[in-house]
Amino acid sequence: MKTTTRAVVIGGGIAGCSTLYHLTQEGWSDVVLVERDELTSGTTWHSAAQVTNFGMNQTMVGLKSHSIALYKELRDDPDYPVGYNHGDGGIRLANDERTMDGYRHFASVARGMGVEYEVLDAAECARRHPLISTENLLGGLWDGEDGHIDPAQLCQALARRARNAGAEVYRHTAVTGLTQHADHSWTVHSEKGDIDCEVVINAGGYRCNEVAAMMGVQHPVASMEHQYFLTEDIPAIAEAGHRMPLLRCPISDYYCRQEKNGLLVGFYEQDCRTWGLDGIDAKFTNALCPDDIDRVTDVLEGAIARMPALAETGIRSIVNGPITYTIDGAPLVGPVPGKRNAYCIVGLRAGLGEGGGHGWLLAQIIAHGEACYDTWMLDPRRFTGHGNVELTALKAIEDYQNEFRFHFPHEHRPAGRPVKTTPLTPVLAAEGAEFGVVNGWERAAYFKPAPEFSETHSFRFNEVFDVVAAEVKAVQNGVGLAEVNGFNRIEISGAGAHDFLDRMICGRVGRRPGRVGLGYLLNAQGCLKAEATLANLPDGRIWYGSAAAAEWHDMDWLAQHLPDDGSVALRSLTNDFTILVVAGPRARQVMQAVSRADWSARAFPWLSVRECFVGIAPAVVMSVSFSGELAYEIHVPNSQLHAAYLALRAAGEAQGLTLFGSHAVESMRLEKGYLHWKSDILTEFDPYETGLGRFVDLKKEFIGKSALMKRHANGPVKRLVTLALDSTTAPAHPGASVMLGERVVGTVTSGGWGHRTGLNLAYAFVDAALAEDSTSLTVDVIGMGIPVRAIPLCPYDPDTRLPRA
Ligand SMILES: Cc1cc2nc3c(=O)[nH]c(=O)nc-3n(C[C@H](O)[C@H](O)[C@H](O)COP(=O)(O)OP(=O)(O)OC[C@H]3O[C@@H](n4cnc5c(N)ncnc54)[C@H](O)[C@@H]3O)c2cc1C
Repeated sequence: MKTTTRAVVIGGGIAGCSTLYHLTQEGWSDVVLVERDELTSGTTWHSAAQVTNFGMNQTMVGLKSHSIALYKELRDDPDYPVGYNHGDGGIRLANDERTMDGYRHFASVARGMGVEYEVLDAAECARRHPLISTENLLGGLWDGEDGHIDPAQLCQALARRARNAGAEVYRHTAVTGLTQHADHSWTVHSEKGDIDCEVVINAGGYRCNEVAAMMGVQHPVASMEHQYFLTEDIPAIAEAGHRMPLLRCPISDYYCRQEKNGLLVGFYEQDCRTWGLDGIDAKFTNALCPDDIDRVTDVLEGAIARMPALAETGIRSIVNGPITYTIDGAPLVGPVPGKRNAYCIVGLRAGLGEGGGHGWLLAQIIAHGEACYDTWMLDPRRFTGHGNVELTALKAIEDYQNEFRFHFPHEHRPAGRPVKTTPLTPVLAAEGAEFGVVNGWERAAYFKPAPEFSETHSFRFNEVFDVVAAEVKAVQNGVGLAEVNGFNRIEISGAGAHDFLDRMICGRVGRRPGRVGLGYLLNAQGCLKAEATLANLPDGRIWYGSAAAAEWHDMDWLAQHLPDDGSVALRSLTNDFTILVVAGPRARQVMQAVSRADWSARAFPWLSVRECFVGIAPAVVMSVSFSGELAYEIHVPNSQLHAAYLALRAAGEAQGLTLFGSHAVESMRLEKGYLHWKSDILTEFDPYETGLGRFVDLKKEFIGKSALMKRHANGPVKRLVTLALDSTTAPAHPGASVMLGERVVGTVTSGGWGHRTGLNLAYAFVDAALAEDSTSLTVDVIGMGIPVRAIPLCPYDPDTRLPRA
């Protein structure tokens, strides 16, 4: 066994084998994989191993396409052909129009990644799958690439290829400990000796938290027991003359594929069970949980109703095994939060289908710091400490129970809520707030017009449209108050603070005390890593502010680049303060009534920051505006948030102050051309492509400059444009394809109704050549080809007069 190597992958399931292979493809050949038992002895060996190309966003579709292309290559390798039934096709069923709308949207998303799904009616579903009844069926979504693979052969083939490229695989070698050294390198302790390495990768499957504990962290990953059975032969299958397509059913929570001349049917029962929360027997390897088919009776009945042949068929065998879930259903693939040179690829619940792609993206992240797609939705840093074992278990159960029921736009499911609250959460709830969840925080989305008001989540405009319209109107014509909790806030101090920021930010960094600016941080590829509001407090401290979700991501990036001389210190204030936003033409009167400071435009102009009192609450106030109206962001310590709120409500009474939520903010920011991190600001595009060229200063040095200059010299590939859609039916949803005739020429990043302009707005990255001439473009919105026109980035108050007034 080697005693030094570049990277050690811990775990020999699909996640570990794929990562090992892809590392060698990235040129990292001095790498090893250690497995406590045999390869695939965790979950992988007993997987149903279905491989779909279905994904709900472009990153997922793209990584699954990679899996499929790789698996086909392995199938066709004459030296070690892998058993892979590719192209049986698969149908996701639906019995309501809302779900069909979702399928139409996902078809639009996939098209942008070169993948074609078909939306079928019920009769066509039955024609393609002769065993199913059309009772209570509206239609389905067809993925022609669907199939299944032999999981053991797949892993052996990947390990074999990795070995051929220089990697080594040590079986029966349990990792027992991990030690990190001052230079961030690691020693991996195993039953068979130590291995020193640069990088460790946790691919420990349902034991991932045993490995995580060895590095002092915990991942929000919980296991559920999951069962399928295999049936005896079904004559109709043998007689069909073609293989049965796969089925996935959100109506009754089962999946089904052909296995020999019978079926494999898997279940997501409501009466489901977590597994291994309090520890896993060390001897549980190549093992199964006791089967318990009685537990799945509820969903089995639905499966029999859909496939009556099941009622006459015997069960050959039952498999019940642990399957991992995270808080939001997506795996954790990327850097381990709070650690250097440590990565994970864990929480895979569809690891056979996705594993090829996840290993591919992770290897790129390890080798280059970034993957070809923006991988934020997989990034382990998206949960910021609230993902403890209890919350993870509740979310895992909820997700399991809803396996095939995707989230609708703005849908936030109830399990484990509330997670993060402020003193105002119950106060706003009493005011009728309907909450959404941002990085665990309960944030008011809108205020219900009546207690009995309830929303039907949909891909179309729904009953919330008028509620948001009223909130926007109140802000535009008077004054509104909103709470923005969880906003990421890092205090940067020390003699070297401004020089440090100068290197991190690609544009000019203002140094004048009392002023606020916007800056962008690039990665080594010259693309957009982060966006920050930089406030120079009058006493010399700098507040770095960014999206709530960016809390750990941005801290990580800044901390990695701190100078060694101790001249800069970082301190997170994210969980100590909350923002109250006062916005609208009468905002100044409210501030004047609540605070003794001079709030005139002359004394406190746009883009200023000051410390003052709001009522009795100490506050840092910035005159910045995401709504485009005259606005003040009031940062208040959480202990005095309620006091500040009461003072503002009292002062606002004379001005008709009303509450507004994040949906209204979303509508208004779209009219202003303001961008959202990880919706519109992505690691796939540089600032020029994103319309942020004015924030770049090529005369100074900054991270990513040389790569950016190269990209810039070649000219933009894509450009972010604002589109106005000719439709009042539905907004354009993120991921929807922008079309020129039958050709995909772009992708929507954000969309929604602009209530002040009366426009159905969307941002989209389109082929650069089309950015100026968009006359013939359409957007595929839930299957409708909606004509669009490109409009100026900022259709509301383009000269930004209102916040300056
Ligand atoms: C019943 C069932 C059906 C499924 N059906 C499908 C399906 O149809 N399609 C699909 O895509 N997915 C399916 N899945 C999910 C899929 O099988 C998993 O997502 C996938 O196998 C997980 O792979 P992994 O490599 O992450 O974990 P594992 O396969 O569990 O591998 C982890 C490995 O790490 C090793 N390890 C752990 N700790 C240590 C240590 N300390 N030292 C060294 N090695 C260690 C373990 O021994 C193990 O081999 C199914 C799962 C179940 C349970």
